[in-house]
Amino acid sequence: MNTSVLTDYYYICADILKDYLPCIPKLKLTNAKGYYGQIQYDGNNEFTIRLSKWNLDCGKRKYWDDEDIDELIDTICHEFAHILYWKHGTKHTDTTNQMRNFVNSTLKILECEAKLRIIDGFQKESKVAI
Ligand SMILES: [Zn+2]
Repeated sequence: MNTSVLTDYYYICADILKDYLPCIPKLKLTNAKGYYGQIQYDGNNEFTIRLSKWNLDCGKRKYWDDEDIDELIDTICHEFAHILYWKHGTKHTDTTNQMRNFVNSTLKILECEAKLRIIDGFQKESKVAI
């Protein structure tokens, strides 16, 4: 299956932050050169977030390094923070940082849990073999 890293991380971030957001904006991927991410208010508490493939997309997951992923998560959190604070400023910056830290911490915990499940699986297998 050929899913976009941009789309995957957008919905991973949205899922992690859903309790802190009044809504999850629609996602559109664009080829814009003038922004990394952009949010538009559509009325009725609905929003659209655009992510620029031109500026953010590195192609298949194997071509992405940690810095690229950090930049993508930062962009997504920056746009999500605009739902709570429309204008740039201290509150928007603080909210972006809190969201980014929460997403990164949650991803690390999920990674550890996945490793523990593998270890647990090996232990169960060895008990059966004994
Ligand atoms: Zn902004």
